[in-house]
Amino acid sequence: MAEIDEEVVRELQDIVGKDNIITDEQLMEAYSHDETPGLKYIPGIVVKPETAKQISEIMKLANSEKVPVTPRGGGTGLSGGALPVYGGILLSTEMMNRIKEIDRDNLMVVTEPGVITGKLQKEVEKHGLFYPPDPISLDSCFIGGNIAENAGGPRAVKYGVTRNYVSGLEIVLPNGEILKLSGKLLKNVTGYSLLDVIIGSEGTLAIITEIILKILPFPEGKVDLLIPFKRIEDATEAVTKFLNDGIVPATIELMEGESVRMCEEFLGRDIPFSNAEAHIIVELDGNKRGELEEDYEQIGNIALNTNAIEVFVVEDRAMQVKVWEPRRSMGEALKAQPGKIVAREDLVVPRSRIPALIRKLKKICEDYAVKLYSFGHMGDGNIHVDVVDPSSITMDEKRLPQFVEEIYKETILLDGAITAEHGIGLTKIKYLKFGLDSTQIKVMRGIKGVFDPNNILNPGKIFEN
Ligand SMILES: Cc1cc2nc3c(=O)[nH]c(=O)nc-3n(C[C@H](O)[C@H](O)[C@H](O)COP(=O)(O)OP(=O)(O)OC[C@H]3O[C@@H](n4cnc5c(N)ncnc54)[C@H](O)[C@@H]3O)c2cc1C
Repeated sequence: MAEIDEEVVRELQDIVGKDNIITDEQLMEAYSHDETPGLKYIPGIVVKPETAKQISEIMKLANSEKVPVTPRGGGTGLSGGALPVYGGILLSTEMMNRIKEIDRDNLMVVTEPGVITGKLQKEVEKHGLFYPPDPISLDSCFIGGNIAENAGGPRAVKYGVTRNYVSGLEIVLPNGEILKLSGKLLKNVTGYSLLDVIIGSEGTLAIITEIILKILPFPEGKVDLLIPFKRIEDATEAVTKFLNDGIVPATIELMEGESVRMCEEFLGRDIPFSNAEAHIIVELDGNKRGELEEDYEQIGNIALNTNAIEVFVVEDRAMQVKVWEPRRSMGEALKAQPGKIVAREDLVVPRSRIPALIRKLKKICEDYAVKLYSFGHMGDGNIHVDVVDPSSITMDEKRLPQFVEEIYKETILLDGAITAEHGIGLTKIKYLKFGLDSTQIKVMRGIKGVFDPNNILNPGKIFEN
């Protein structure tokens, strides 16, 4: 890969203006890491384009000079996807932060990629509208990053993931061509769906420059239930029962007991029944008060008949924020733990196998003398596995890959997958073959080759080079 020389810097400056370029190493530090533990790569240069046309010019230049380009959104990724492993151009979308249109007639929003997801949600809410995907990082991740990762979130159990809301995209190919994929259309089967190829492509196929999202009317009613269970098995059984009864809550989140107790300490306040093995937070939403009441009563009864310790029903908005506070503060609580964070995984198994997965993980963590904090999106079988090495030295360069491999193998044995939301990025490249057979990897590599024959866009991600 080519280095950035003075001529390239000059040309980039001509494209985006000198105020939208950073070359000072100290200032580039902020772009050298994301939220993946322990990784840091300083880019050759940071560019902050404001339009698709500028991105097109940057890509034409990079393609002809064979300079690597790494797209970056909010930098909250947990697989190192936005890290410039080969230096080159770090292309930040932070200046492309305008919501262009809220189209009530068609229930669509048109936005640039650098809009913070939570801000987009608040803006559409002002119009009585609702954008459901809600990654826990929504106060800092960008909507463009969400599309590149096909982000999920607690509400996926009822509303699905980012992919379910993308109706159209504008993208810039590695050779600089600008393409429009679909539009404000609820159905479109004209040829292969390139739209679906780009969603979840982790910035390796094209740069997303404009997004058309489907939105819904805002559900006015919201009821939260906090339910502690003595055993994770009981929590899973209760969830299976109420889903089978036809109740589909917006979220069913799980916090394993150790995670609850860590947050209790971090927040400095008592959480009821924090000695339980599992807490679940169930959120029901809708516009019909009577239906919400019927549903939460039925869930409460099922839970109590399945050994729940208590069922707290929370309708007051301020109290609801409190109920969610431990779950939302997991990331920060983790950072405050003594020792070193050595893994932040996002495994997924069929929902009924969550207890088996957690029991296996506990055993493996015990064997490696590390602390396990597991929690996540129980409704869709997606369990986050955050691991802290209290000694900061037990997990050396040899033991850590062994440990990770063990937990991935157990997940696959339970018919699961190694990543539900965070992507392969940089950290899971070696394990791609755990989830896919060689033919699938060959087809994927073929797709990469068609989009990016010179391998300049986010090289060193998803596949081994
Ligand atoms: C505390 C915490 C909680 C989290 N909770 C969740 C969760 O609930 N659900 C979930 O899915 N994830 C979660 N994540 C992970 C992360 O927030 C998501 O992956 C998010 O979608 C990343 O968005 P970002 O804007 O920060 O992207 P970045 O980290 O900047 O980039 C991620 C990837 O997208 C690519 N990319 C970014 N913008 C573009 C673009 N415009 N065009 C092409 N490629 C682009 C990058 O190259 C990179 O490969 C969490 C992370 C943290 C730290």
